[in-house]
Amino acid sequence: MTRTPIIAGNWKMNLLRADVTAYAEALAAAGPSGAQAPDNEVDVVLFPTPVYLGLAATAMPDWVAVGAQDVHAEDGGAYTGDVAAAQIVDAGASWALAGHSERRQYHGESNDDVARKARRALGAGLVPVVCVGETLEQRQQDQTEAILDAQLGAVLEVLAAAGGAGAGAVVAYEPVWAIGTGLSASPEIAASVHGHLRARLNGHQGGLGDSTRILYGGSVNADNCRDLIGRTDIDGFLIGGASLDPASFLRIIRLSTGSGDGS
Ligand code: PEP
Repeated sequence: MTRTPIIAGNWKMNLLRADVTAYAEALAAAGPSGAQAPDNEVDVVLFPTPVYLGLAATAMPDWVAVGAQDVHAEDGGAYTGDVAAAQIVDAGASWALAGHSERRQYHGESNDDVARKARRALGAGLVPVVCVGETLEQRQQDQTEAILDAQLGAVLEVLAAAGGAGAGAVVAYEPVWAIGTGLSASPEIAASVHGHLRARLNGHQGGLGDSTRILYGGSVNADNCRDLIGRTDIDGFLIGGASLDPASFLRIIRLSTGSGDGS
């Protein structure tokens, strides 16, 4: 089965209103950049802060989807500061991250919380992107696979439901030690972990491995993206720092999809 690649940008708590508009203008001016040609399809997604979801959804060209960086596990109520899946959809977004390591680290989100968030997102019609990844300490203690198995195991039912609903769901492997450090996983390490995740997905009843896209995230840039995406089980990227500048993001799209030399 051919899996459409995804190039996604996570802006985290960065950029202001004027930046969002200028970013959208830069993407629109660049055109679909060959990335949307029928033989060269790619899903391009940006994850702005929640206050700019509506703005981004309106301003971005139609080949760019918009998603939320987090989604609450309940469908509404007394949860000050949080955002419900229905509100994200209402703002014009169609994707949502669940379980980014910064949410797990700074907001104490457990595997079970992440599964509930992903389920809620899916139920509202959003494409959930479930983030998994080990810390440096866990890698050094040879716990990588055990950690990933627990993180992935918690969401297998949601991923299965996503396949059944036709909406699809996505897994993002983001080693914590590679996020924002400039120290990307080598293509060999990333490929080996992605192969492990794919096998786990295939091992679930019915097999989810063919249909579930697995992204790599962690210091992806224009210099390393081609080597990473050349690996069989790497279906695209979740990019933090290098997605903040539209020219850099476009370069990665072009290089990763083979739709140009990145210039
Ligand atoms: C991220 O935050 O998801 C990420 C991968 O960040 P960076 O690309 O900056 O490492």
